[in-house]
Amino acid sequence: MQELLDCQLVQWPDNQAAYLAAINENPANAGTDSATRSRRKRSVLDYSKLWANGRTLKIAFMDAPERDHKRRIIDAASRWLPYVNLKFEFVDDRKGDIRIATKNNDNSSMLGTDALLIHPDHATMNLGVKPDHADFEVIVTHEFGHALGALHEHQHPQANIPWDRPKVYEFYQNRPMNPLTREQVDHNLFASFNTLDAIFTAYDKRSIMHHPVANALTVGDWHVPINRKISKKDKRLMRLLYPK
Ligand SMILES: [Zn+2]
Repeated sequence: MQELLDCQLVQWPDNQAAYLAAINENPANAGTDSATRSRRKRSVLDYSKLWANGRTLKIAFMDAPERDHKRRIIDAASRWLPYVNLKFEFVDDRKGDIRIATKNNDNSSMLGTDALLIHPDHATMNLGVKPDHADFEVIVTHEFGHALGALHEHQHPQANIPWDRPKVYEFYQNRPMNPLTREQVDHNLFASFNTLDAIFTAYDKRSIMHHPVANALTVGDWHVPINRKISKKDKRLMRLLYPK
């Protein structure tokens, strides 16, 4: 089976605190602006966790990766910049809105403004992927997508992935590296979201925010390869979320 790129998207466990942080940063996160009101068929909308539009995000390196390593992180993160009305300012003083650690093994990010709730001494993003990994840039770009507020595309409400659920549970529970419980599988793979992301854009199998899906874990012939590029939809979504 194809090696899966592992990513842990982390959301702040206290929903009320996360909501307050999100709307304090950007009132549009409540999802009540006119753009969303005019959309058809809207049930209960979850709030979003987007940064204030037009803002400069300070991005700190917590553990002084070497120069080339840092350069490549900056380049991969900056792939989003043409599509958002945000600026990135990379700093070395450990004080950032987004704080990157590179020394442990996992790849994870807080979702958007949830980073505001993390203790200032702690990282909000782990980039454990080593610079010699063939998909280093892909993973860094993907994690920064989360840091900008993008969710996992395979959890888009229109995804309708023909998961072979018993096989998916079995695979994730029994893999030697980073096994997942049944609840984690439900949460990370099967649960769908209902935020601005879903209202603005249709499901996109080619999104860089989609996890690869192995054919062995689906019913019939259905899989998603590692999406290595920011897709057209990814660009459109970011332009809608952070309009210039
Ligand atoms: Zn992810």
